[in-house]
Amino acid sequence: MSYRLSTRSRGRLKGVHPDLVAVVERAIQLTEVDFMITEGLRTPQRQAELVRAGASRTLNSRHLTGHAIDVAALVGGNVRWDWPLYPRIAEAFRQAARELKTPITWGGDWPRLRDGPHFELDRKAYP
Ligand SMILES: [Zn+2]
Repeated sequence: MSYRLSTRSRGRLKGVHPDLVAVVERAIQLTEVDFMITEGLRTPQRQAELVRAGASRTLNSRHLTGHAIDVAALVGGNVRWDWPLYPRIAEAFRQAARELKTPITWGGDWPRLRDGPHFELDRKAYP
């Protein structure tokens, strides 16, 4: 079973670093759990709004520079936030990143404020 990115998901990759887009394109081919892109590049206004709402804690987000994306798991075409789906999506991203030699970080690996839907280009390789 192979999934495809929707037109909406593709639209949300506009302004995202091409190396991260390539990882997403490969991950959707590899994943056993379908996903959509919910957010890529963010404006400073949008980021400030998220911080005010308590959805983000930093005004220095990787989303502001096109170095991060957020996904939502899809089961039967419907968004699901069940945690066990996200490590499976992350596995596809890890494999894609390995194949493309593009180091990435998964928010689900963060010890504090684990962020399962979030993937970003590694800060050391992509400052
Ligand atoms: Zn994010």
